[in-house]
Amino acid sequence: MVSYNTAELRRQNRNRVFRYIYSSETPVSKQDVAQNLSLSLPTVGQNLRELLDIGLLELQGTFDSTGGRKPKAIGVNSQFKFAMGLMLSNRHIHMACVDLRAHQLCDATITKPFSNDDTYCRELGEIIEQFLNENEIDREKLLGVGIALPGIPDLERGVVDLSRVVDFQELDIALLKKYIPYPLFLENDANAGGVAEWWNNSSASPMVYLSVQKGVGGAVLVNGVDYLTHHSHSGEFGHMCIVPNGLPCRCGKKGCLEAYCSTARLSDNLGITREEFFAALEAGNKEYQLLWNEMLDHLAYAVYNIHIVLDCDIILGGVLAQFIEPYMPDLRARVSMISSFPTDGSYLHFSKYRKWTSCVGVALHFISDFLDTI
Ligand SMILES: [Zn+2]
Repeated sequence: MVSYNTAELRRQNRNRVFRYIYSSETPVSKQDVAQNLSLSLPTVGQNLRELLDIGLLELQGTFDSTGGRKPKAIGVNSQFKFAMGLMLSNRHIHMACVDLRAHQLCDATITKPFSNDDTYCRELGEIIEQFLNENEIDREKLLGVGIALPGIPDLERGVVDLSRVVDFQELDIALLKKYIPYPLFLENDANAGGVAEWWNNSSASPMVYLSVQKGVGGAVLVNGVDYLTHHSHSGEFGHMCIVPNGLPCRCGKKGCLEAYCSTARLSDNLGITREEFFAALEAGNKEYQLLWNEMLDHLAYAVYNIHIVLDCDIILGGVLAQFIEPYMPDLRARVSMISSFPTDGSYLHFSKYRKWTSCVGVALHFISDFLDTI
């Protein structure tokens, strides 16, 4: 029992030392670590040696001396491990790899319509290998592959429920495992996006991630963890009723936010791409301006409704995020105008990873687990 406790204490100290250095944006010295963690210099020295020996930490120069030898500057070797994340949508496969510090190393989008069968999963496995080869990702350092989907993974039954998004009901997870020879993790795309945004959030306060793309959804994060309820339906902002008896929604109800703010309204429904829509909007297309104004109004009401209930920062993401930046002041002004309490809408932020948010978020599952094992 005593030896277990000693070993556990050592492990905890090692993890604290590593996390202190990981949390620092710049390299630190042994003395910094000892002072800030209230650990003895020999204890810190021992842990640093172990972490340097395995290559997880590296020497990154020296600090100026205040007398005697110059202290060594120690930092994290962010290339020690990698993780890959994918987001599958009806038409595309988005892919990205991140390092230990959640830096996005490489990304790609491939046009490939989703299909719930063996051929699609086999080809997906080949696409992953090709992506890893092209970007020279060392498989020995690859922690795993995460897949974000517009559905709800049911790990007990081994399926993903995609019933609201595509014609078929369930994707068999065993089919993915058959062709992807790495540790695999599946996550709802909006929840994965929330995880990525939390990672970059310096505040410890709860946060909402609102994902606007063909499907509209999101996540509520408390202490960095999804606020999940009995049916994993928290954060289903897309099906909040914005207009009673309004436009029909894919869920079968009427007036949902998704019926008004889905990006399908400005692409699929018009037979053009999102890029073409925004180019025409900028060029002064009156019809598109009316549609866009209506979308912004409904989005503003959604943001306001979420904020009035949860009173926290809201991060706007999803594929709309790559187009909406020039319209953020307008959106904030609309939110401000309808708010019961005075606000300039500054609680509304913009996704850091843009359209890659879900890929990064689902990859971070592996990075997070790895950091826990140190
Ligand atoms: Zn709905």
